[in-house]
Amino acid sequence: MKYFSTRGGNELLSFEETVLTGLAPDGGLYIPETIPQLPENWQTEWANHSFVELSVEVLSLYISRDEISKAQLRALVEKSYSTFRHPDVTPLRKLNNKVFVLELFHGPTFAFKDVALQLLGNLFEFFLTRRNAKKAAYEKQESLTVVGATSGDTGSAAIYGLRNKADISIFILHPKGRVSPIQEAQMTTVTDSNVHNLAVKGTFDDCQDIVKALFADREFNATHHLGAINSINWARILAQTVYYFLSYFHLRRQLSSTLQPSELADVKIQYVVPTGNFGDILAGYYAKRMGLPMGQLVVATNSNDILARFWKSGAYEKVDSSTPPVGASAPAAGSSDGAQTHIGGVKETLSPAMDILVSSNFERLLWYLAFEGLEKSHSATRREASKTVNTWMHSVKQDGRVQVPIKVLELARRDFVAERTSDEQTLETIRSYFLGDPSYVVDPHTAVGLHAAEVVAGQNDASTVQVVLSTAHPAKFSEAVTRALEGAAGFDFEKDVLPVEFRGLLEKERRVIDVEAPKIELVKKVIEQFAINVEPPAAAPSV
Ligand SMILES: *Cc1c(COP(=O)(O)O)cnc(C)c1O
Repeated sequence: MKYFSTRGGNELLSFEETVLTGLAPDGGLYIPETIPQLPENWQTEWANHSFVELSVEVLSLYISRDEISKAQLRALVEKSYSTFRHPDVTPLRKLNNKVFVLELFHGPTFAFKDVALQLLGNLFEFFLTRRNAKKAAYEKQESLTVVGATSGDTGSAAIYGLRNKADISIFILHPKGRVSPIQEAQMTTVTDSNVHNLAVKGTFDDCQDIVKALFADREFNATHHLGAINSINWARILAQTVYYFLSYFHLRRQLSSTLQPSELADVKIQYVVPTGNFGDILAGYYAKRMGLPMGQLVVATNSNDILARFWKSGAYEKVDSSTPPVGASAPAAGSSDGAQTHIGGVKETLSPAMDILVSSNFERLLWYLAFEGLEKSHSATRREASKTVNTWMHSVKQDGRVQVPIKVLELARRDFVAERTSDEQTLETIRSYFLGDPSYVVDPHTAVGLHAAEVVAGQNDASTVQVVLSTAHPAKFSEAVTRALEGAAGFDFEKDVLPVEFRGLLEKERRVIDVEAPKIELVKKVIEQFAINVEPPAAAPSV
């Protein structure tokens, strides 16, 4: 299997090159040459597979055996998911006959990004170790310096994915004092020598600007082999396809105790996915295209709703042009949700991991839509689709928007439906599931999913069962959960929500480097001092 860029279409990369490159040099995202189809007997052969066994089967459809053998892949996957606390890795939990929750938060940092980042860290290490083993003693060993900025959510998952990995160092910048105490503690209590937390006196935007400037600095980048771990890395999408398959089998097993075989045969699964950068739900789209039976995927957004607006109108635009700017007139009934508008248009919501202006992985879906849209009229080539995507993305960059043709929108509506949830509705949903039977405490991101599920359920037929992806443990977002449940009879945060792993976390030993001002030179100094740059032991021998 080879990969190509959504904006190129000609050059083909191996899986290893794809994973180590991340973003394509032309600005595009890598996608597989073809979407592999499931083997004929998958329904019976895979039915009782564990998460690890399913990962090996699914991932090996996308990775050539001469790149990673099945035995090597198995070892990588086993190592990656041995860090999860639940034997199923991603267990499926029944809320009622029609709604199940797929809990993705049983990894080391209690959020779904662990599923992808645990594997990505091991893949990085596997490739670097293999490259270095092939080098002669006098050659410089390859190393990777991962640099990222976080407002709290992704930093810890990245740190736990890369801690203690050979030939890799990781530098995570966070705005000092501006991430939640739990998230700050999760990051800074990791004391492995290759992990470096930088507490920058400044804002999250300052941190992000510094990271962008570091990547743009060719000389610095070449010296330190900067690596990114953002959500556009193909390996992250691939790792996330597995739990769609696992939950498919788990759902059928759970339903078989209450349904007749004929009823079970009729069940349609609808996955509902709290969405920001479109990575998690894109993995579901790949699973669907591979042949996993499912209905439309539900895109659940918060009030940063660029995707929900796209599915309404076919316009992909940063700023909503259909409503007047705030203050220009009285807000329409129901449109006010208390979300704060931030400079640049991102709204701060109660589900911060989904606070985005544009969705980086959406470009991958756009490629497939462009390709199929063209195919209708004539036999399209990859290059033509990439050219179309290039034009669309250029227009988003230039004008802040693009309007896709109606037939492209129709294609998008065949596989997806989108719903937006306000902060107020998020709080109400947390409350109603806590008061429900069984009582269940959800985090605000999962609540956005549950609310969207309720809205679309009205259009579903009787045989549809919803699986809502739960992307974070409620203890990670204690502020929103407490705000929703304050005063609810019988609610006790410590008893109902706080996992044992979080107890005492705030008192644990920390390792953090203070950066006194948001200046790139100060950050460079830290990286130069601590990055692993493996030097050859002696000068090259004379030939
Ligand atoms: C990252 C994240 C999301 C959004 O996932 P995408 O793949 O970016 O769509 C949702 N919830 C939580 C808790 C997250 O950390």
